[in-house]
Amino acid sequence: MEALRLKSGSRATPLPVSPRTLGARMLGPWVLLAVRCGLLLGAGLWVCVQAQTTAPAAIAQPEGASKIVQNPGWHFQKQAVAAANPLATEAGYAMLAAGGSAVDAAIAVQMVLTLVEPQSSGIGGGAFLMHFDGKNVQAYDGRETAPAQAGPDLFLATDGTPMAMKQAIVGGRAVGVPGALRMLAMAHAAHGKLPWAFLFAPAIGLARDGFAVSPRLAALLAAETALQKDPVAAAYFYDPQGRSWPAGHLLRNPELGAVLQRIAIQGPDALMTGEVAQAMVQSVRQHPSNPGLLQLSDLASYRPLLREALCTAYTVAPKTYRLCGMPPPSSGMLTIASILGTLDFTPAASLPLVSGRPGADWLHLYSEAARLAFADRAAYVADPAFTPAPAGDWLSLVQPAYLQARAAAIAPHGPVMPQVQAGRPGAPQEPLGWAPMAEQTEHGTSHISVLDRWGHALAMTTTIEDAFGARLMVNRGKGLAGGFLLNNQLTDFSFSPEGADGKPVANRVQAGKRPRSSMAPTLVFDADSGALQLSGGSPGGAFIIHFTAKTLYGVLRWGLSPQAAIDLPNFANMEGTTFLEKGRFAPATAAALQARGHQVLEIPLTSGLQVIARTPSGWAGGADGRREGVVLGD
Ligand code: GLU
Repeated sequence: MEALRLKSGSRATPLPVSPRTLGARMLGPWVLLAVRCGLLLGAGLWVCVQAQTTAPAAIAQPEGASKIVQNPGWHFQKQAVAAANPLATEAGYAMLAAGGSAVDAAIAVQMVLTLVEPQSSGIGGGAFLMHFDGKNVQAYDGRETAPAQAGPDLFLATDGTPMAMKQAIVGGRAVGVPGALRMLAMAHAAHGKLPWAFLFAPAIGLARDGFAVSPRLAALLAAETALQKDPVAAAYFYDPQGRSWPAGHLLRNPELGAVLQRIAIQGPDALMTGEVAQAMVQSVRQHPSNPGLLQLSDLASYRPLLREALCTAYTVAPKTYRLCGMPPPSSGMLTIASILGTLDFTPAASLPLVSGRPGADWLHLYSEAARLAFADRAAYVADPAFTPAPAGDWLSLVQPAYLQARAAAIAPHGPVMPQVQAGRPGAPQEPLGWAPMAEQTEHGTSHISVLDRWGHALAMTTTIEDAFGARLMVNRGKGLAGGFLLNNQLTDFSFSPEGADGKPVANRVQAGKRPRSSMAPTLVFDADSGALQLSGGSPGGAFIIHFTAKTLYGVLRWGLSPQAAIDLPNFANMEGTTFLEKGRFAPATAAALQARGHQVLEIPLTSGLQVIARTPSGWAGGADGRREGVVLGD
């Protein structure tokens, strides 16, 4: 079959082309591809998958990991896809343009992200996907699970103390059973419109012909110290002298292309069983200094779950919204709903932005509300298959009466609360059974939002946990360069299985358990009409909760466009320290917070928000200029 070759490889040269024009340019070859695939269905889809995809031109991107680019915001009438890398967004948009559904687009995006944003997500990791089919909201759980041989001492050193985070991350120890691919197959079976194999064509083409290393990937590779120690990763990401590839370098990943081709033809079992599964198990168990416990049976038996979405009401008079997200094992939506609900019992709603930014009065209230919410998160949230919800219902943690009682501890003008502890929803008689989990650092992850022509939509946050995950690149040993990276998601469990008082930590390691997450893929609806209002989310570890809460508050309460809400400076508070995004707040803001007793730390807060939201005249998209995302649609 003749290849649909437009260009060989892709370059990072910024072109003076609007995303809309670029999308239209992509459309031609893809329609052709769709027609050819359709014609060839009877003859076998693999022929279609072999077709060469276009190698689209890049859109202006940040020059470094933390340089902020001013994105324009985007507008659409019908359909759109927002993702963290232009090549991935283009692949998703090509699926929409070819008549695909939101799920079809997300699968194409995820496969390209595995290749072009390997630091953040991929087929070696896990994901959560919120889906709206025009009537119902569904929560797909593709979270990693702990291997059957793992137990509460997984992250304890020989002297019984918790390991250092980095020591746990690098190697096989923290690798959980990857769930993203089987979850996507489950969602595709329910909501896909294009053939499964078709969705892999963009990633297979780019893997074979090469993609331009993005500035962000180049910067992260240059700063990396552990990835080089994995021989497969070293040979792929670094030149023979050990120098990381610069931005614009054309990188080919034939091994990933071959693996994706098998998955395209055979489905997720091509990853979870057979020679790819064997290669995963071998990488994990034979790591020279930090082996893990993954077995073939863990991979073969992994099942994604369909959960009931966690939805709460949020009123911005006269409108009431319904915020829907993942229930536990994610703490994302629960903690966001707790923060926003607690703020409703403070004077926060009367405080507008000050010079276009959140002012000190508002930040004080937000930080205090967040401390209360995070104290509950630390005590209660874990995999519901192992840990019962307090008062028998996770929503007990966000009931207005409960939050009102919690909010009474906040002094609107300071000082900060001296100490914050978990609350007792349902006012049970017995003492709290859990020790709080200490906050642990985490970074990585990617967010995808899609709206299709039927008004169906999804929000999917996807992760291999730390940047470059476990620093283990899986390769079947067939002489092809590259492969895919494995997650280190098990470090989202508490390293300490119990507190100082001997009580168990709810989120301790247990065989087959899913680690607590902060990921917060979010769908927002008009509570009266049921109409979809917004799809969004972000990477950022526990900061995800704050990045997403900020954006929801900006759009729903402050009336900002998605792009303007994303662009607001970031802020956070987990367990006491008030974090402000470095260089984005006036010095007087930090001083005013300090005067109320806040310990303020200004640091880069590199969110990667992607949002699509309804406007009076259609839909608006926003992508975070702190990373490399763009939105495409029509
Ligand atoms: N592993 C994290 C979680 O599931 C996400 C990591 C990140 O966003 O950096 O919550």
